[in-house]
Amino acid sequence: MARSKCPSCEYHEFEAVPVTTKSGQKFCLIQCVACGTVVGTLDDVKITNVIKNAERKMSKFLENLNRKVINVCNRK
Ligand SMILES: [Zn+2]
Repeated sequence: MARSKCPSCEYHEFEAVPVTTKSGQKFCLIQCVACGTVVGTLDDVKITNVIKNAERKMSKFLENLNRKVINVCNRK
């Protein structure tokens, strides 16, 4: 996978900065840690979806894990 880099200073670390507009809209700016150039935005809905997807994957993973543990326990 190619490494992301800042279009301005070519640094490769970014941070998400939460921003709320005057109208109350929440979103995140993705900016270069070194020079602050904004390279992208995430709106609140997308962030929530990402978290929800991660939670879903995690609970599925735990479910599978539980099932495996139970199987192992029952074998004895
Ligand atoms: Zn930069």
